[in-house]
Amino acid sequence: MPKKPKKQQPERHRLPLLPLRDMVLFPQMVVPLLVGRPASLAAVEEAVESDRPLLLCTQRDSRTENPEREDLYSTGIVAGIHQTLRMPDGTMKVVVEAMERVTLKRFYKKTDCHEVLVERVKVRVPRGKQTLALMRTTASQFEEHARLSQRVAPEILMTLRGITDPEAMADYMSAYLTLPTAERQELLETIEIKERLEKLSSILMRENDMLKIEQKVRDKLRDQMEKGQREYYLHEQLKAIRSELGHRDDGYDEFTELRELIDKAKMPADIKKKAIREFGRFERMPSMSPESSVVRTYLEWLVEMPWQKRTRDKLDLRKAQKVLDQDHYGLKKIKERILEFLAVRKLSKTSRGPILCLVGPPGVGKTSLGRSIAHAMGRKFVRVSLGGVRDQAEIRGHRRTYVGALPGRIIQSIRKVGVRNPLFMLDEIDKMSSDFRGDPSAALLEVLDPEQNKNFSDHYLEIETDLSEVFFITTANSEYEIPDPLLDRMEVVRLSGYSILEKENIAKLFLIPKQLEATGLTEKQVKFTDSGLDSIIQCYTFEAGVRELERQVAAICRKVAKKIVMAKKQPPKVVVDAKSVIVLLGPPRYDDIRAEKEPLVGVAVGLAWTMAGGDILHIETSTMKGKGALTLTGQLGDVMEESAQAAYTYIRTRAKELKIPVTFHKTMDLHVHVPEGGIPKDGPSAGISMAVSMLSALTNREPKKSLAMTGEITLRGRVLSVGGIKEKVLAAHRAGIRTLIIPKNNEKDLVDVPKEVKRDIKFIFVANMDQVFKEAFTARKTRKKKA
Ligand code: ADP
Repeated sequence: MPKKPKKQQPERHRLPLLPLRDMVLFPQMVVPLLVGRPASLAAVEEAVESDRPLLLCTQRDSRTENPEREDLYSTGIVAGIHQTLRMPDGTMKVVVEAMERVTLKRFYKKTDCHEVLVERVKVRVPRGKQTLALMRTTASQFEEHARLSQRVAPEILMTLRGITDPEAMADYMSAYLTLPTAERQELLETIEIKERLEKLSSILMRENDMLKIEQKVRDKLRDQMEKGQREYYLHEQLKAIRSELGHRDDGYDEFTELRELIDKAKMPADIKKKAIREFGRFERMPSMSPESSVVRTYLEWLVEMPWQKRTRDKLDLRKAQKVLDQDHYGLKKIKERILEFLAVRKLSKTSRGPILCLVGPPGVGKTSLGRSIAHAMGRKFVRVSLGGVRDQAEIRGHRRTYVGALPGRIIQSIRKVGVRNPLFMLDEIDKMSSDFRGDPSAALLEVLDPEQNKNFSDHYLEIETDLSEVFFITTANSEYEIPDPLLDRMEVVRLSGYSILEKENIAKLFLIPKQLEATGLTEKQVKFTDSGLDSIIQCYTFEAGVRELERQVAAICRKVAKKIVMAKKQPPKVVVDAKSVIVLLGPPRYDDIRAEKEPLVGVAVGLAWTMAGGDILHIETSTMKGKGALTLTGQLGDVMEESAQAAYTYIRTRAKELKIPVTFHKTMDLHVHVPEGGIPKDGPSAGISMAVSMLSALTNREPKKSLAMTGEITLRGRVLSVGGIKEKVLAAHRAGIRTLIIPKNNEKDLVDVPKEVKRDIKFIFVANMDQVFKEAFTARKTRKKKA
């Protein structure tokens, strides 16, 4: 047994050399070495015999068999021998304890083993706060390293916590770090303690970072593996359940079918991604669950949207003109406007211009014009009525979280029509209202605005849909009811209604042939005469458009068809004339509206503009003894009431000239009533007719026969112009009015009135009330009455 070496080594000492391969020892380490090279074996023997420690020094290159001075690093370790054990194969196991650093000074080459003169390394151990802090940092980094690498035993950490000497600590940590040989040697060669700790700290930082990254990668891999395994397992389970439930073996079930449809739907990439994600969810859900049917419906919507389907535009203006003329009588200006619109569209593909808005009373052909435009352009037609829509969701859809949620009307219609570029008619946009559920017009704005509708988002679909290829056309009864921001984006085209002659022609050329075809009759079986048509138009309908007329024609055709089918022998041709109309349609409905009856005292005929076109108003005034009260009834709006007050005041101020008792406002009460109290009436245009009605009652003179008037009155008796002249004139014509008093400034509006109407009516243009009174009453009668 070799003796334990003395603790205190001389400054310089000559020691037998044991070269180390790929190994660097640090002081305090006790390690077993397996020695096999003859020179190394001799060195151990020499050390034991001479009771000296060994010099352990690492070779620069582990492959060198017999290293000499230059093959060794210049710093080594002095090590005491604890134990030696000869092995049967001739090698030896030596347990050594590394003691301290030395530098190699001189090399003595000998035959059996080499010896080296070494010098002890002097180390100054710093004790400042900075060193302490450095020690703590490095120690905690080392602990983290132990935790991350899981290669350091807990006892080692315990021991480390007990070390207070900085050098001992640095060496202890270096000993337990797994590092490349060169780096370990570098640590060994670093003499300054602070420098050594700093180096250790940076090595630990690098190593810990590496370990963390490795950990992350490992975790991710494990997650993926687990997920893959889990999915595989679930899919297998699903398959088993499906086959239990009797699905087809070849896997061609609703899932496969839906998945195929998703692939075939030609969705844009991002939407397809979403569809596939939802499909994944759907597949994993229990098929009976309500959630499953929600997702399924959603997927069906996605699959059935026309993502890429479109029709090709035919923008041949000559053809378009032909189609418009074929489908519609008259409407010259409107057709022209539409053709201009299409021409611009053809020339400039980029600027899509404003949206067309067809404004007019019901039944004037707005919808059918839309259809014709679609036909002329070769587009599919789809129509949505917005009348009564008060909820944003009707346009944009409900979120899927609602029970029974569906997309909004826009998306529904696009799916229904099956192409992404239909002609889309939004009917009655003036009939939307808004409440707490959000303003639908705001949503509509997004639909119509070319800047925004490229990515219109429906709440149900939750994806952006491109509506920019859709050709939108809107319709309204009154442009005044359209929300301003919407109106701003549209170009209004007005259709104001038809004259009686125009209606007759529409009936002859379009409505009758259409209804004959619908009922399977021929012109040989039924004939509509002019008088018959006239009677239908004037006594059975009272409208600006021709919808009711079409209905009455249809009713007659049905009755004739029934007659023919029920007849025992071949029935004679049915002639629809003024007489037979009464038999077929019953007593006339609008007889009383026609103003041909004898004029009455206190009754003046005014004209009104309504959303359904124009209308006539009978304004009645009664006088009675009293104290000058003015009563107004008949659901009059504020403006109309004020007009009545103004008319009253004007008459009072002119009482003398008008030859009525100047004190009438003290002795008489006046009651002005506008019948049909169920309908609210407003506007200033009845001003002059109310004045005429009052004057008629006060002077006991009836106005002229078949006379109507419209115009606003001022307190000084001026007559101001009013709106809706064309509609009012047509209404007056329908009602059989022959003389019409209208404000001078409205004369220009008569250009739009059909010739035959102008021929039938005498127009009197007035600028003040004196003219009105003069024209409204017959001079001769007045004298008679007076007499
Ligand atoms: P709107 O949409 O303005 O309420 P529609 O387009 O539904 O009216 O028209 C009602 C009916 O009247 C339709 O059958 C339409 O073909 C017919 N019609 C209206 N105007 C004309 C016209 N100028 N020529 C031929 N038919 C017309």
